[in-house]
Amino acid sequence: MNDVPAIILAALGQLPTLETVTVHDPGPDEVAVRLVASGICHTDISYMRDARATPVLLGHEGAGVVDKVGANVTHVQPGDHVVINWQVKCGRCRWCLSGRQDLCENVQATAAPRVYWHDAPLHVMLNAGTFCPVAVVPAMGAIPIRKDMPLEKVALLGCAVATGVGAALYTAKVQPGEGVVVIGAGGVGLNVVQGARLANAGLIIAVDVDDERLGRALTVFGATHAINSRERDPLAEVKRMTGGRGVEHVFEVVGQPELMLQGIEMLSRGGTLTLVGAAARDATLPFHPRRFMSQQQTIKGCIYGNIRPAIDLPLFADWYVNGKLRLDDLHTATIPLEDVPRVFKQGQGGIRTIVRFE
Ligand SMILES: [Zn+2]
Ligand SMILES: [Zn+2]
Repeated sequence: MNDVPAIILAALGQLPTLETVTVHDPGPDEVAVRLVASGICHTDISYMRDARATPVLLGHEGAGVVDKVGANVTHVQPGDHVVINWQVKCGRCRWCLSGRQDLCENVQATAAPRVYWHDAPLHVMLNAGTFCPVAVVPAMGAIPIRKDMPLEKVALLGCAVATGVGAALYTAKVQPGEGVVVIGAGGVGLNVVQGARLANAGLIIAVDVDDERLGRALTVFGATHAINSRERDPLAEVKRMTGGRGVEHVFEVVGQPELMLQGIEMLSRGGTLTLVGAAARDATLPFHPRRFMSQQQTIKGCIYGNIRPAIDLPLFADWYVNGKLRLDDLHTATIPLEDVPRVFKQGQGGIRTIVRFE
């Protein structure tokens, strides 16, 4: 057991605060990770609006060093570098057994609560809770990663890269030469852009309202074109660039129904709109189904990029080390844990702010 600082959202609509929590030792089939870095993801911030339960320990994009392992844990040992996987599959449900672990209906938490606040068990965001120097996770929530990759870059693998690169490669299965539009060029959107690049897409068009993000999309991540939607009509531009045909893939990475509708209008025949951004829980999407039907189009939901965490997260680390995956330009600020509430209040400038522990 140890008392440590933690960023807690006490109730919906409030700003999170720095508190002290008690973290218990891992039980059987669990791992305690001493976190070194944790990224601030849009989903952390959106919890102020739509967390399912409060109070909750925030943070889910983390990396660190294994501190303790519970009984039966064999895939890691103390001292190993790991990334936090916030979707530990059960391995037993109908989906897992059918080979679709990405659809697991029984994502695992620790067997009992391991984090306490004021002597009461505390909810932990996505079974991770990385805004705290220690995270106790189900065994496969700690995925070993090669030690020659800096841990603040490893943290990014755990959500932004998994979600974005996975959306392009695994959810949408972008094919060589296809046209791709990515609406929203933040931490996840830029990873969709580089996922499309890794898939050898043809046109890769980034859409955002921020010229700095669009610049990075073009110069670093592999976009072939960028559209500032404050200055130009993205739908008209996409139509113009494709001879009126539209693109095979649109990714909506913001979570706004009006942008999803714009995405549908950008689709070619047989095109797919992949929803990556988290909309408000009560949002609805009214669209014209007739042309959608006759043009044989698809809308897909995407969470965590449909990755296989234990296979893909180490693979992404290899891709970073050998230069295929570009992450250095995602990491735009580093802060201590106590500054997290300020970032929630002011919004995340740049692309990814990383909380650095120690
Ligand atoms: Zn996230
Ligand atoms: Zn399952």
